[in-house]
Amino acid sequence: MLSINAVINAYNRSMHIQENIQLRSLNTMATPAIAKWFAVAQTEEDILFAVDFCKEKQCQLLVLGEGSNTVFINNLNVLVLANRIGGAGQIRNLFSSDAIEFVSETTSSVDFLIGAGVKWHQVVEQSLQNGYSGLEQMALIPGLVGAAPIQNIGAYGSELKDVLQNVHAIDTRTGEMLEFSNRQCEFAYRDSLFKQKPGQYIITKVQLRFSKHEVIYKLDQLYPALRKAVKKKIAEKSITDQTVNSQAIFDAVCAVRESKLPNPKEMPNAGSFFKNPIISQEMMSGLLKAFPAVVHYPVDEGFKLAAGWLIEQAGLKGVFCENGVACYDKQALVIVNPKMSSGQQVIKFAALVQQKIVEKFGVELEIEPRLYEFKEKELHCVST
Ligand code: FAD
Ligand code: NAP
Repeated sequence: MLSINAVINAYNRSMHIQENIQLRSLNTMATPAIAKWFAVAQTEEDILFAVDFCKEKQCQLLVLGEGSNTVFINNLNVLVLANRIGGAGQIRNLFSSDAIEFVSETTSSVDFLIGAGVKWHQVVEQSLQNGYSGLEQMALIPGLVGAAPIQNIGAYGSELKDVLQNVHAIDTRTGEMLEFSNRQCEFAYRDSLFKQKPGQYIITKVQLRFSKHEVIYKLDQLYPALRKAVKKKIAEKSITDQTVNSQAIFDAVCAVRESKLPNPKEMPNAGSFFKNPIISQEMMSGLLKAFPAVVHYPVDEGFKLAAGWLIEQAGLKGVFCENGVACYDKQALVIVNPKMSSGQQVIKFAALVQQKIVEKFGVELEIEPRLYEFKEKELHCVST
């Protein structure tokens, strides 16, 4: 726990708590909401100061990264704390900056401790430039390092849990600084201990392990869309190999994502709005009888369905309502909000999508982003 002097230092130094701040530009879905209080934390002392402030005001604290997995439903009578530890903006030489600490190395790997406020994609891109690999399939995922453990971010079969060593966090109930091992984070598919206990821990640093050698990927083990993009790049270079290196994967991931996913700056969205449902063997057999082409993948717990395919088959791809909220026309799993409509309007549309999928396939779609609503004098994370 930090001393009272450290907290006083934070107060004297810089942390400025503002009142009645519009959050529309602080969430990529661009839904409007007023935060009663708002502050930016650059140090652990700032966080402790914010925790004390909330105790004094008897209000709740909501920590925010880049708001790319968050939807605000209404005004929030809470302190919204933007976590920018070690971060805030583009850092030219991340691996020689204060934002990243070298921890240890072996002949094959190196561990770095990274500030929660650093941009995730910057870590992926600059690690490759520094000769470290392993994160490339997770290139161009928006958001900050501190939010990455919340839903165990992942793409193309690669997940944060594959490279994460530990998480440093502050317990908001006691002010204690804690360290969680990979196992203690209870990672699962787009899930973690932190997602299950919203508001309890504020992540300050994350330790990741990078490979010091090139990771070599076999083409036939890549997701089909990624394989196609890699093959296109290989064809352009007239190479006939059946394997590719980390840089080639990084380039292909960026190319596919840029061609398929809406840029939140131009078309507000929060990425995939629903998780891919996991169903039992029995349910899978029933679905296959009715829909032989249903896209599915075996997983430990049964079968994973491609939620985007279900939405498309229900005729909802590109469909929008009068306030503009729509299933994106290049990837139906992404709900877009071009007119910056309210959070209520977004979830009303999402509920319609959920209802159509239940009606057609008998499958429940679970909302992936965190939905925040303030009612009965309390902040509720509706989508937990
Ligand atoms: P925020 O939205 O700010 O926060 C998300 C949640 O984490 C909130 O509950 C917040 O309270 C909590 N939180 C944030 N920081 C902290 C902290 N320091 N300590 C404790 N709690 C914290 N996700 C994937 O997994 N894979 C993808 O491929 C992917 N692609 C996307 C593409 C697009 C176009 C978009 C818009 C989103 C995508 N996402 C994807 C979702 C999103 O980018 C990730 O979930 C990301 O990790 C969110 O980071 P953030 O900083 O924006 O978090
Ligand atoms: P895609 O490649 O078109 O694939 C569609 C779906 O099928 C994905 O959801 C993926 O599941 C699943 N899939 C495809 N090939 C698979 C395989 N070989 N084994 C197991 N599952 C397979 O997907 P996309 O929409 O373009 O996205 C590409 C990747 O980026 C995906 O991993 C996706 O999760 C990730 N992404 C996530 C978000 C988000 O907000 N969470 C947004 C955009 C993209 P998985 O989703 O489980 O991988």
